Amino acid sequence: MSEHVYTKYIHHDVEVRVRADLKGKHREHCLCFKCSKFAPRTLENCGIAAAVYSHCVTFNIVTPVWECPDFEQGQPKSEVPPDGQDITTN
Ligand code: SF4
Repeated sequence: MSEHVYTKYIHHDVEVRVRADLKGKHREHCLCFKCSKFAPRTLENCGIAAAVYSHCVTFNIVTPVWECPDFEQGQPKSEVPPDGQDITTN
């Protein structure tokens, strides 16, 4: 088993720890950013994505969606905010 390097930084005013090689790669891996049901900052947003994001805000975690039964490949329904900005959901 390979040993990973971990780092810490301030994310939304909270110090968090992350695998150094995955820092900032959330959007690259999360299915939502390639899903036609994703509609951040709108009331049309996918309920699963909204629930996941709510937990991320509550616990100061970053949780990419790796697998999803409802994924539909396509462009998100609304504009995705720039990296580092909140993705307010319904
Ligand atoms: S259907 Fe799945 S992949 Fe698509 S936005 Fe919702 S949680 Fe993300």
